[in-house]
Amino acid sequence: MVDLSLDLGQPHSHLVHVSLRCTPATPVLRLRLPAWTPGSYLIRDYVRHLEALEIRQGTQSLQLSRTEPSGWRLELPSLEPIEIHYKVLAADLSVRTCHLDGDHGFLALAALALQVEGERWSPHRLSLRLPSGWQAFVPLPLQADGSWLAVDFDQLVDTPVEAGPHRDHTFTVAGVPHRWVCWDATAPADAAPDSLIKAHPSLLQDVAAVCEACCRLMGEPAPAAPAYLFVLHLLDQGYGGLEHDSSTVLQFGRQALLKPEGYRQLLQLVAHEYLHQWNVRRLRPAALCPIEYNKPVIVPGLWFAEGVTSYCDQLLPHLAGLSSEEDVLHDLGRDLSRYLLTPGRIAGQSLRQSAEEAWVKLYRREANSDDNQISYYLKGAIVSLALDLELRRSGSCLAQVLRDLWARLGQWGRGYREQDLLEAFCARSPGLAKCLPAWLDGCEDPDLPAYLQDVGLMLEPQLASSPHVGLTASLQGGTLEVVRVVRGGPSQEAGLVVGDELIALEGLRLRKPEDLAPLLQAGGRQAITISRRGRLRTLVITAGAPAIERWRLLVDPAAAPEALERRREWLGVVPC
Ligand SMILES: [Zn+2]
Repeated sequence: MVDLSLDLGQPHSHLVHVSLRCTPATPVLRLRLPAWTPGSYLIRDYVRHLEALEIRQGTQSLQLSRTEPSGWRLELPSLEPIEIHYKVLAADLSVRTCHLDGDHGFLALAALALQVEGERWSPHRLSLRLPSGWQAFVPLPLQADGSWLAVDFDQLVDTPVEAGPHRDHTFTVAGVPHRWVCWDATAPADAAPDSLIKAHPSLLQDVAAVCEACCRLMGEPAPAAPAYLFVLHLLDQGYGGLEHDSSTVLQFGRQALLKPEGYRQLLQLVAHEYLHQWNVRRLRPAALCPIEYNKPVIVPGLWFAEGVTSYCDQLLPHLAGLSSEEDVLHDLGRDLSRYLLTPGRIAGQSLRQSAEEAWVKLYRREANSDDNQISYYLKGAIVSLALDLELRRSGSCLAQVLRDLWARLGQWGRGYREQDLLEAFCARSPGLAKCLPAWLDGCEDPDLPAYLQDVGLMLEPQLASSPHVGLTASLQGGTLEVVRVVRGGPSQEAGLVVGDELIALEGLRLRKPEDLAPLLQAGGRQAITISRRGRLRTLVITAGAPAIERWRLLVDPAAAPEALERRREWLGVVPC
């Protein structure tokens, strides 16, 4: 048994005081802090927030030697119990980091829990000390003494901890208890904590309906988890989620929620993370069995884990009866357009490369990312659309393949390799033996027009109303700065680069992005004065013909009745 005690009693310091107690099994003690957290494929070096590490055995203070940035070693004088104390700075507000202040505390335990070598598969007991008036929301079994018990280190790290003066709401899905807790960072401290439910009185029923739709999609009578916790951080702006076996942490922006499609997007996020309960958490890539917490692991199957889930998350609110066919087509059309307008899908990465390079590219986006990469979420979702429609030509569908993989591997805790995915797809549609490897390894798009035609839809390009310049600028610290230059576009041809400060257009001062309108509207050749590394220079941009601004997904008015019937079945999602 390893005991982990977290003291959140001084929230304004942002410091979590950690105490770890165990009885060593061997005279050599090795400790490591995870460098990343599962579900977010970036080495975060959580150790940079750890301070004042000390270890004691009885009354004796012992000296640890560092073996790596996140690791320590120590030869113990005896096998008597040890106590380890340290502090962790919790000042980073995201779903995969720690944040503690006077309003709430959120703990991603990968950033806090030292792993004691040899104790990975031992039970870990978690205790919390909270400021008065706070309560904790922890997706682990609560013990009689007020602590929580994880069966092993992996379950501990898979446990997000939310604490604060908020309250939770409960509902059930197929008899399984679910809790919903929202920390509303945008509400005044003395406001009622359930302002989101006040604004959306059907929220809990809608979330439950989405959860039930996920179970139906998986062909399961009940969720995979024995109990489930939703934690929502409602911020002014923000978006994200992190999946866990029995919980999820969501981040959503109030400003986005005010938009017409905002509530639907929140339900899609709920669907996405809830479906991960199966796809990626329990139906898991073999490369993540078991998880290596201190090094990046190449996971080629991330396209399946995230792409299939992203594709399904748009359909699930519809399956739950909470969005219309028009909504689904609107959201799908937006993703198709974003995909088709990303040059990196052709010149940058294949889908497999995108998954394999997650650690160094997707989570580290910069100005040129659209030119040299394509998100495995986005392309994964588009390929999933093509897979679903291809499978439907053979009388099957994507949900059926998910169910097959769950039945054969996921429910038994067996990780899947790429060959398993290929076999599962080909078993339902032999033609995919050729298509799928090409979609994974090549940069050619699936035949999207043909697949969409199957269900009576078509894509239509829409040209921009102004000439093509290939330049995006925004105010950065009070100056108008180039933030994107389209590769091979007129601005790049003219010599502009990201970071240039835009000073004047045809001798007229530029101060804000809207001042560039004459450049966009007039076209032709125009002189633009910039400052680069403090030196002024003037470049000439020759605008090109208007480029495609977006792609619209439209219902084909000439579609045959069979196509309309196929569309109805497709949006029904569940296999016949
Ligand atoms: Zn995801």
